[in-house]
Amino acid sequence: MTYFKSGSSNSFIGCLILMISISSAFVGRVSAQVRVGILVKQNLRTVLISPAQGKYILTNELSDTIYTFRTDDAVSVSQVGDRLVVKSAYGLNDTLTSCFLIGSGNGAAFKMRVGNEPQDLLYYDSLQILPETKGLRLVNAVSVERYVSRVVQAEVGYGAAEEYYKIQSIICRTYAIRNLERHALDGYDVCDHEHCQVYSGSKNPTDEVVKATAATSGLVMLSAENDLILSAFHSNCGGQTANSEDVWKEERSYLKSVNDTFCLSSRSATWEKSIELAEFSAQLGWSNGVLANDFGWKQPDRKKYFTAGSDSVETANIRRLFGLRSTYFDIEITNGNVNLTGRGYGHGVGLCQQGAMKMAEAGYTYSQILGYYYKGVSLAQISSLQP
Ligand SMILES: [Zn+2]
Ligand SMILES: [Zn+2]
Repeated sequence: MTYFKSGSSNSFIGCLILMISISSAFVGRVSAQVRVGILVKQNLRTVLISPAQGKYILTNELSDTIYTFRTDDAVSVSQVGDRLVVKSAYGLNDTLTSCFLIGSGNGAAFKMRVGNEPQDLLYYDSLQILPETKGLRLVNAVSVERYVSRVVQAEVGYGAAEEYYKIQSIICRTYAIRNLERHALDGYDVCDHEHCQVYSGSKNPTDEVVKATAATSGLVMLSAENDLILSAFHSNCGGQTANSEDVWKEERSYLKSVNDTFCLSSRSATWEKSIELAEFSAQLGWSNGVLANDFGWKQPDRKKYFTAGSDSVETANIRRLFGLRSTYFDIEITNGNVNLTGRGYGHGVGLCQQGAMKMAEAGYTYSQILGYYYKGVSLAQISSLQP
């Protein structure tokens, strides 16, 4: 079966297959684990921890083992001033300045109950607990692959093609390794909400996601300049992705506009919105008369600026001002209203998720799809990156 019809707009994709190469890049720190600050916004004072799989011990700040969990055991960790009070039904009762929950054995996992969560949360590997003024600092040191599969599950949800889960795994792993220093001042690598990537203890990944993550184990994307790439993605490009410099100022060799017909039949391919002309002009800071009835403006290709006479404003600003789904819109003014007819959903830079999903369903491989949206990138193993 061939997916490259000669003469079709997609025929050139065949030339863009990535080389799976072992390359080196320079990053601050390379690790098989990622330290995730979890439940950072909840300002918790108490957590209840119990082992779910494998063996667990509790150590103090000097790494001395102070407690070995039994199988049906639970330990409460409560903050009292600048100390932690740790207690169990089997006689543990201690006051510490910090503690580590350390798991061993294949797939070591622990359950955690916190006040306002309806169910026990499940995390893998280890946990560091420190008292801070605003509440407990909880840092889950977890293998990169376990982290990636959780983030992919939260980002993609259920029912996507296996190849698509692989794509999102590589994107998410690249993001994590590139951002290992992002929360250095907070005492961990990445946080568990949208600021970094959503990592939830209540959503265990499906076998399908775990399998897809494992199939790309350790793979990250490097630019032609051999740097870990900014693996930007968005929901739907509306037929053409955006240049990075047109949206975020900074130019990147791999974030260049490409045409995309794959996403056009998806649900977010088009949108419409109407805004009163007076309000539209006022928000742009334009005087009356610059825009009037019967004015029309089109983007056959994505444009950085919306222009009328000698006035112009960045389409990215218009999107921000009016909460538009994208910067890829046409304008027509009738009856005192600015009617916007738009394409796509999101900033438009990098990989188009709905297009990539369609490509995956059509049988393209993850390396072909990544090479289509990210120009000139190659794949490398984390272990080959040089600190
Ligand atoms: Zn963050
Ligand atoms: Zn698209």
